Amino acid sequence: MNLNDIKARCEEVGTCWEWQGAYTTSGSPLVYHDGKRTSVRKLVYALKHGRPLPEGQVASNSCQNPRCVCDDHVRGFTQAQMLHRSRANTNQELRAARIAATKRRTVAKLTPEQVQMVRDSPKTNLALAAELGVHHSHLSVIRRGKAWRTFGSPFAGLGAR
Ligand SMILES: [Zn+2]
Repeated sequence: MNLNDIKARCEEVGTCWEWQGAYTTSGSPLVYHDGKRTSVRKLVYALKHGRPLPEGQVASNSCQNPRCVCDDHVRGFTQAQMLHRSRANTNQELRAARIAATKRRTVAKLTPEQVQMVRDSPKTNLALAAELGVHHSHLSVIRRGKAWRTFGSPFAGLGAR
């Protein structure tokens, strides 16, 4: 098996090669090679560098596309580097949480009476959003009862049940 055989079993998406074959239960691309199940990325590393992955390293991809096995994106990472990367992912999650918080503050444009009206109204989110001049996704958040409770204003709690 060579890199072209691997590439032939992928779909090219941008500069990534997305593996169309099997995956492990934890989501790593998997291939049968020499009668054994092996990590596609490990194999790609070995084919590209002409030697196996160094002991103690993990073959992973710098693009972080979970399906990608592109030889230009697959690198050997030490455990310490992998740990650093998972911390970086946690930072991304924090950023996503901050964006969600900003969206919730947008909901605070509504008065407590309007929030109550949204919760009691039989109208659809789309129809109400048009009336109130907010995005309909804000109304679905209000109706799930999450947004109004969480921001600090003199009215906080008025709409919460
Ligand atoms: Zn990639």
